[in-house]
Amino acid sequence: MDAAVSHDGAGSDLEREVARRRTFAIISHPDAGKTTLTEKLLLLGGAIHLAGQVKARGERRRTRSDWMSIEQQRGISVSTAVMRFDYDGHAFNLLDTPGHEDFSEDTYRTLTAVDAAIMVLDAANGIETQTRKLFEVCRLRDIPIVTFINKIDREGQDAFQLLDEIQETLALDATPMSWPVGMGGILQGMYDLAGRRFLPYARHGEHPEPVQAEPAEIAERLPADQAEQFLEEAELVQEACPAFDAEAFRAGTMTPVFFGSALKEFGVEELLWNLGRMAPPPRTQPAEPAPVEPTNQKVSGFVFKVQANMDPNHRDRVAYFRLCSGRFERGMKLKQPRTGKTTAVHNPIMFFAQDRDLAEEAWPGDILGIPNHGTLRVGDTLSERSDLRFTGIPNFAPEILRRVRLADPMRAKHLQRALTDLAEEGVTQVFRPVVDSSYIVGVVGQLQLDVLAQRIETEYKVQARFEPSPFDTCRWVTADDEDELQRFIDRNRSAIAEDRDGAPVYMARNFFDLNRIQEENPKIRFSATRER
Ligand code: GDP
Repeated sequence: MDAAVSHDGAGSDLEREVARRRTFAIISHPDAGKTTLTEKLLLLGGAIHLAGQVKARGERRRTRSDWMSIEQQRGISVSTAVMRFDYDGHAFNLLDTPGHEDFSEDTYRTLTAVDAAIMVLDAANGIETQTRKLFEVCRLRDIPIVTFINKIDREGQDAFQLLDEIQETLALDATPMSWPVGMGGILQGMYDLAGRRFLPYARHGEHPEPVQAEPAEIAERLPADQAEQFLEEAELVQEACPAFDAEAFRAGTMTPVFFGSALKEFGVEELLWNLGRMAPPPRTQPAEPAPVEPTNQKVSGFVFKVQANMDPNHRDRVAYFRLCSGRFERGMKLKQPRTGKTTAVHNPIMFFAQDRDLAEEAWPGDILGIPNHGTLRVGDTLSERSDLRFTGIPNFAPEILRRVRLADPMRAKHLQRALTDLAEEGVTQVFRPVVDSSYIVGVVGQLQLDVLAQRIETEYKVQARFEPSPFDTCRWVTADDEDELQRFIDRNRSAIAEDRDGAPVYMARNFFDLNRIQEENPKIRFSATRER
């Protein structure tokens, strides 16, 4: 039972709306089937009516903006979108994350705005590198994960082997909720272990009714060799796999596992129905001075992403704002503690699969797009209170650092503008060494660098080159004792830079250098993330 549901049945609108919100993301390795699954979920939610529209939407969007040509050339999706849909009484917000590994920072930040995730695995490939990285981020925040093992209409690995892999590589208890009877050419259907139902698989798109029956009865309808195997497996599953434990799931230590085929729309409805039942409503968000409950009447939320220049003719931006508490109404005045300013939100955008609309109201868990001219940054809190600040939206230490060289020194101001804007958007991180006036940009992947160069050129008409910098990686430095920190900075000036908020950063030549400096300075904290 959801904690937010009131027990006398006469809950307020706020309690009711919170209880039915499910805000989630899909994490997967490229090609595991995230796009296909997204499309099928939207179809079930009635948010789109024809298959193929998710891709079509992508194409329309691409034509809007020049920089998206990178996306076109490489056939990858760069931008994050939000999709609202309803199903079975629940209001879902699906936050799309770019799949390519070089955009992990953007993806990581998006994961700070969800309450649950679906992890899609390709039945043939199991856990892949990108799945693993994304999972680690979910674990940092204890995000509950529902696993969908996709593509069972093709030959895949043995189901037990897949469960073992989840258990071993992710150290996560895996509980099968359904069980595939055969895979690929001999896929007969799926057994719903909790509901004791068999869902027959039809190769030609029809959807046969599920059959309520125990495994022994189902076995009678199967070819002899498969019948035997199914009975053995069903027994083993009961004995060997832990039962579903809602508490462990919500704590992020166990994952319910569903099997299916996104492409054949098999097992997808079961997944969505269960997601509504199992996934938690909006969480209590970590904040200072105290965590914020979603049912708190005062409106609050944070910006987890900024997208700029969606239309190259305007310097407009959209800040993606996750509402954390209270009922939001259009026109509301919200305070921004970082600047002390108050913003009246007149044109909040609600995102639907194909459209965006003005939002008259929104509830905790919902995502709003707030158009602005650069006043809102990633990590910003907006709220009716003036003392509140949400915590835990990290910057990640870049893995590639490059010095920026201008082709035309007269355009230095423009370069500065471009780097500031793009850093605010989270496309890059910008560092200024304290000993000279150059810029060093940091990204987490090579592709991000290409996007950066292209956007600086097309949007700001500045030609810049990225040269190797003497540094390989960097760490934010802090200490309990301010004097200690200052002495460290003074002693290592040639390796100190400031991030765009003026926070000191140690630039390391390599990991050897980093290890040495850490050992020599036990009172200094070196962090690979910086919380804003
Ligand atoms: P993404 O990169 O994770 O978004 O993956 P896509 O949804 O684009 O799928 C990658 C490829 O796998 C496409 O060719 C899909 O048609 C295919 N695919 C996705 N789901 C399934 C499935 O359930 N069965 C089969 N056979 N192919 C699938």
